[in-house]
Amino acid sequence: MAATSPDLMSTIVSLCKRRGFIFQSSEIYGGLNSCWDYGPLGVELKRNVKEAWWRAMVTNRRDIVGIDASILMHPKVWEASGHRAGFSDPLVDCKQCKMRFRADHLDNIEKCPSCGGALTEIRKFNLMFKTFMGPVEDDSATVFMRPETAQGIFVNFLNVQQASRLKPPFGIAQIGKSFRNEITPGNFTYRTREFEQMEMEFFVPPADDRYWYDFWKETRRSWYIEYGIRPENLRLREHAPQELAHYAKGCADIEYLFPFGWSELEGIANRTDFDLKRHSEASGKSLAYFDNDSNRHYFPFVIEPAAGADRAALAFLTDAYDVDKEDNQRVILRLHPALAPIKVAVLPLVKKDGMPEKAENIYRDLLDHSITSFYDQTSAIGRRYARQDEAGTPFCVTVDTQTLQDDTVTIRDRDSREQYRVAATQIVGAITEKLSGKRQ
Ligand code: ATP
Repeated sequence: MAATSPDLMSTIVSLCKRRGFIFQSSEIYGGLNSCWDYGPLGVELKRNVKEAWWRAMVTNRRDIVGIDASILMHPKVWEASGHRAGFSDPLVDCKQCKMRFRADHLDNIEKCPSCGGALTEIRKFNLMFKTFMGPVEDDSATVFMRPETAQGIFVNFLNVQQASRLKPPFGIAQIGKSFRNEITPGNFTYRTREFEQMEMEFFVPPADDRYWYDFWKETRRSWYIEYGIRPENLRLREHAPQELAHYAKGCADIEYLFPFGWSELEGIANRTDFDLKRHSEASGKSLAYFDNDSNRHYFPFVIEPAAGADRAALAFLTDAYDVDKEDNQRVILRLHPALAPIKVAVLPLVKKDGMPEKAENIYRDLLDHSITSFYDQTSAIGRRYARQDEAGTPFCVTVDTQTLQDDTVTIRDRDSREQYRVAATQIVGAITEKLSGKRQ
């Protein structure tokens, strides 16, 4: 992939629309800026990304549990967390062409990068969306749409710790929608005003913070590689001290080489004991942990890997995009089988001689085993394979003349294009093994 490639981005945007991964929100009304809808293939991909994250962070670990907190929270949460006063971006406008920029994204804050005109003074712009709770729209009814899922975890820290009887080091994970009134949304689903986060707060004894900070940086980087991102397209960028949020002792971004350049995919921060202390002070209810071993209360430090489901899905999609130049510029989405929206396409070679019936039975059997599959008996077999390659389907099962004689089918592998025969009765087992990564 080229360092930056606007063409690749627009190719991916149009592939997403054509194949039903992502549509513009409210398109028939001209669309709503920065809002996107996931179509039939996109919703499967994003669900698979979230499930892969949940498996790695919760299901497969003994020291992390999950929660699902509400999006609307008590307004005091956002005062204590510092978001009311400090969750803002520096905004500048061009006096000439009226374009708007984030001052921290500009090299020169004197001159408009678009037309060269003069820029306004920097203003602070709070990113939280406001709404009203109940019928009266006044200040006392103002509530905020959460700009991060993390605070739902902090305010529940003791509830979860006591209900689950966990001792630091342990973590609480959550996947959910967040909202930020971004000044400059854009780059497709990369920066939107409504998005989904996958965050985990890992509570550790303060003396162990460095160990766990390093641990989560490496563990999270490996996760993207495990699910198919090429290592050369990922890098870890440690923040300089002046970049750190007021509460953070350290922060590193996992960046991906998107078609528009290196950009943050996930942030890993050492949030110290800032949030637990602030909520304890503001609510009057101590969130300190009681350590039986030392017989004292203390505030654990927090290491936070915070990822975005939409950014991750976009990175997996972009990295998987490939064009076979030797085969008519054919598009292949080389998605990891665990992330692929459709796992198997079942294709009768022709629409006669009992092949559709046989294929239909195989298709039904795959569905009965909860393997997301697709049945297609239209057009020439080569075109059907091509359509599945473009959708990222890792395996095609073809019913052909030999099937009618010996009840075997071919399984075609998307990446190697290899085809081999398997007994029809063994398809579910063979596909299940392939999906779990085990060898045949
Ligand atoms: P950025 O610097 O890109 O604005 P951030 O550092 O403010 O991001 P965090 O607060 O660390 O982001 O949020 C954690 C993750 O949530 C990000 O790494 C990203 O994957 C996701 N995220 C944050 N803001 C957005 C957004 N506007 N649209 C899509 N995903 C987002």
